[in-house]
Amino acid sequence: MKALGHFKTITEHKLLVMKYCFRVGLYRQGLLHDLSKYSWAEFRIGMKYYSGDHSPNASEREEIGYSTAWLHHKGRNKHHLEYWTDYDFSSGEPKLAGEPMPTKYMVELVLDRIAACRVYQGEKYTDSSPLEYLNRSRDATLMHPITRAQVTGLLTMLAEEGEAETLRHIKTVVLAHPEKIIPNLPRKEDPASKDRTFLRGEQARALADRLGTPFYLYDRATIENHCALLREAFAWNPGHRQFFPVKATPTPAILKLLREKGQGVVCSSAAELELCRRCGFLPEEILFMPNYPLPADLDAAAALGCRLMLDGPGLVEDFAARGMLRDGIGLRLNPGGVFRFGSAAVRLEAVKFGFTPEAALECVRQLQTHGVTSVGIHAYLSGNTLSPDYWPAAAKVLLWQAKKLMAETGINISYVNLSGGLGIPYRPSDKPLDIIALGDSVRQVFETETAGTALENVPVFTEVGRWITGPAGLLVTRVHHVRRGFRAIAGVDASASDLMRPMMYGAYHHVSVAGHEGEQNRTAWDVVGSVCENTDKFAVNRMLPEIAPGDVLLIHDAGAHGHSMGYQYGGRLRCGEYLLESGQVRRIRRAETTEDYLRTAIFEE
Ligand SMILES: *Cc1c(COP(=O)(O)O)cnc(C)c1O
Repeated sequence: MKALGHFKTITEHKLLVMKYCFRVGLYRQGLLHDLSKYSWAEFRIGMKYYSGDHSPNASEREEIGYSTAWLHHKGRNKHHLEYWTDYDFSSGEPKLAGEPMPTKYMVELVLDRIAACRVYQGEKYTDSSPLEYLNRSRDATLMHPITRAQVTGLLTMLAEEGEAETLRHIKTVVLAHPEKIIPNLPRKEDPASKDRTFLRGEQARALADRLGTPFYLYDRATIENHCALLREAFAWNPGHRQFFPVKATPTPAILKLLREKGQGVVCSSAAELELCRRCGFLPEEILFMPNYPLPADLDAAAALGCRLMLDGPGLVEDFAARGMLRDGIGLRLNPGGVFRFGSAAVRLEAVKFGFTPEAALECVRQLQTHGVTSVGIHAYLSGNTLSPDYWPAAAKVLLWQAKKLMAETGINISYVNLSGGLGIPYRPSDKPLDIIALGDSVRQVFETETAGTALENVPVFTEVGRWITGPAGLLVTRVHHVRRGFRAIAGVDASASDLMRPMMYGAYHHVSVAGHEGEQNRTAWDVVGSVCENTDKFAVNRMLPEIAPGDVLLIHDAGAHGHSMGYQYGGRLRCGEYLLESGQVRRIRRAETTEDYLRTAIFEE
């Protein structure tokens, strides 16, 4: 009778998955789903442990410590995330890690979970059950973050919008355009939360009328708050120094504000050095980290006498010739291999920065012949990440490299530079980093890794850019045209020349309509600029309230790598910048004019 019971359970489940697969157009997968459950290796176990409300695999696992049926099953069925795991040796010890699942199997996994929850939970099942199950399960640790984001997005949609809408979305959007499935659903508890920022509603419209659009607006209070939080996060390290990467927001008023808050700057070119000098930064507050530097960059740094960094081999003699070798000079390392943190992975061979471990050793020996007795170390390991595991993992890698250099050459380490790369919640569904908790995780790594060594209390340097100013900047723009053809399109007066990230990386920037924040009634819009490139789009298929010409749109999280990346392609010129402080708005950069555009042009022979 157990055989019949088990047969009924798996068949009921299989038919349900098949029905769902057919509804989204996955016919072959619908027919083949879970066929191996009817093989003797799996069926035998299912029959033996059949109970009706408990997984036979789990029962087998309880009895003999592992499940033979599951091992047989997950190796043959591509809709299981375990099928998509592989060895990862980056930590020194082999461990299993998830790879991204192909879209059609990711979808089958989602449908499998819906069906399994329905079959096992019976009348207790609701559209939220699969999401709740996912959140309770341990899957997240093995699932690749991209897959996890996709699965979470679809199950969130199921919980919020129901099965019919989710299946329709899977069929017409997810499977039809597999590259567009990164979820972008607002948080369930407060769908409009992301619409709210330091400027909104009537105030935004009034400011747009007064200043003329487009323009950048930065919020002093947000920047100050982030400076204070970062400082607090590293209060445990007496030597901590933060150097803001100038390329993120090279605007004097912002840089001076950061200096007031105790931050230094990282520069990578002669022009950035000059900018910082004019902003009042002292040489020891400037960390020069050029990348494949040009002679003019090195000359400028030598003249300034700032802190220096070697970003790879072949530079020692260039530095020596300019009298730039001294204690505390920095080395940018590239440990190679795959850098894994949490469930993300960065293949470091593809990174253009830094010394290989062998080259670093050789460089230190060379520096020692020039009388250098201490170096600082740095590595670029990842960028724009929201993983709380990134900095602790980077700290481990750097400390390990530091110990190796010390042991093999006797050099002293004057600081360990964690670099920047902390992400911000661009999407409503992103979870912001808790910087205080992050600082504490880094502290734990430093304490365990340096106890009893010469590295105890070694100063920690950081180079946080985006996390400090990103959320503190808005691009304010006005709608000039509304067109309804194949899609609803809002044409605005800002363009990629003001904010290039969406065009360049397909980056997401949240968009809100001033005065309609949090409005529930939304339809899909493209928000586009006026550069003659089809990629000049701030948002594609974005759910927004009704838009009319004259509306003011706010493009969020543009305070870092925003205005600074701007350019003049198509004769579109960069807009001005303003700083909001104590309720007042101060202009901190004028908009470019046609004269600026023509300044470098040569008209006469
Ligand atoms: C760009 C950059 C960073 C980090 O920038 P984030 O804004 O934090 O992403 C850090 N250090 C250097 C040298 C950089 O060039």
